[in-house]
Amino acid sequence: MTLTANTTVVPSPAKGLVCRNCGATFGLIAEHACAECFGPLEVDYDYDLLKAVTREQIEAGPQNIWRYAPLLPVGQDPASRVSLNPGMTPLVRADRLAEELGLTGGLWVKDDSANPTHSFKDRVVSLAATAAKGLGYQKIACASTGNLANSVAAHAARAGLPSFVFIPSDLEPGKVVQSAVYGQTLVAVDGSYDDVNRLTSEIAETDEFEDTAFVNQNVRPYYAEGSKTMGYEIAEQLGWRIPAQVVIPMASGSLLTKVDKAWRELTAAGIVADTPWTVFGAQSAGCDPIATAFDNGWDVVKPVKPFGIAKSLNIGNPADGPYALDAIRRTGGAVGRVGDDEIVQGILDLARTTGVFAETAGGVTVAVLRQLIADGRLDPTQETVVLNTGEGLKTLDPLEPVVGFTHRVEPSLKSVRAAGLIG
Ligand SMILES: *Cc1c(COP(=O)(O)O)cnc(C)c1O
Ligand SMILES: [Zn+2]
Repeated sequence: MTLTANTTVVPSPAKGLVCRNCGATFGLIAEHACAECFGPLEVDYDYDLLKAVTREQIEAGPQNIWRYAPLLPVGQDPASRVSLNPGMTPLVRADRLAEELGLTGGLWVKDDSANPTHSFKDRVVSLAATAAKGLGYQKIACASTGNLANSVAAHAARAGLPSFVFIPSDLEPGKVVQSAVYGQTLVAVDGSYDDVNRLTSEIAETDEFEDTAFVNQNVRPYYAEGSKTMGYEIAEQLGWRIPAQVVIPMASGSLLTKVDKAWRELTAAGIVADTPWTVFGAQSAGCDPIATAFDNGWDVVKPVKPFGIAKSLNIGNPADGPYALDAIRRTGGAVGRVGDDEIVQGILDLARTTGVFAETAGGVTVAVLRQLIADGRLDPTQETVVLNTGEGLKTLDPLEPVVGFTHRVEPSLKSVRAAGLIG
């Protein structure tokens, strides 16, 4: 299967797929691994077409990810999109958190909990589902740590496409319900995410699933490009400039590589000034294979068996780990890791100082920001953006023991007085 040539007014700038390992090139096909060396394939662009894109053209677009269609591989024709139209989520100024952390250069939270299914995964699924349609697939599917499941099921429901979602059976109840509610096929697998992922790559090879796009497997090159839109938006929302530092949570490591790629494209296309940036990665202590590789100076990432509350990040064998390490090292960044208590504290700190309620992945990122400042690895005098990739209501369990009523009263002023709320 190959994407058909684009015939719309805005041409797709995508030239083909390129192997990130050996550089072999392919058409816009439905493969994620190189036929020569099994390396991961990535969308390659015609830079002359990217250079022709202007701020004005983007600003005239819709208030969602499709304003960046001239920089994306698919979706130039609005009728071709299979999408909940995510994106243009708030970039929230976090002055009080900055003050607590001793960060003087300016701090922002890019809040992707505001997406239609309340995580950044809507960005990648919109690209994957649109590519799947263009490639002629009839169904969509995924292996997921939770947020992807929510988004695939919702996109399928909106488009009237059958979908098959595979998740570890021990996911948070909020994520299970939010996947199930859309009335799609939802399969609980008694195993880790890495087990689920291995299983779905076997299922994808069967005759029954020949016509199925597994959004993070056979159409992964297109899926992954959706994450670029988070980078584009941050730059646009800052008034078309790139922040000096960014802290990004990592599961497979893909999001981190694509925010960096987005900024390289914007500078290469002359859409923003070419100012330096530093990319920091955030992991939990329960799943820290990229942090460990960083600490040891390894180019390869050794798989781990994940545990802990940051389930959306619990990928023990991260496909994009080596490429995330490249971006972090090339830009002079670092990787932090934090334990479950620090993650909960990160969620509370963000909520108390900004009004943003993050899921555990956001707690990881905020806690890592604190750690990187304390260790002197992140420069507190430079402007910094942290990504909140998901909604706190999805992961209530770890908070229930630590927050709750501050007072309990009878419905009488006497009782309110006894509680010390009035004199
Ligand atoms: C999937 C996910 C990530 C990280 O995604 P990768 O691109 O696999 O690194 C971060 N935060 C949340 C909430 C996620 O669901
Ligand atoms: Zn290759």
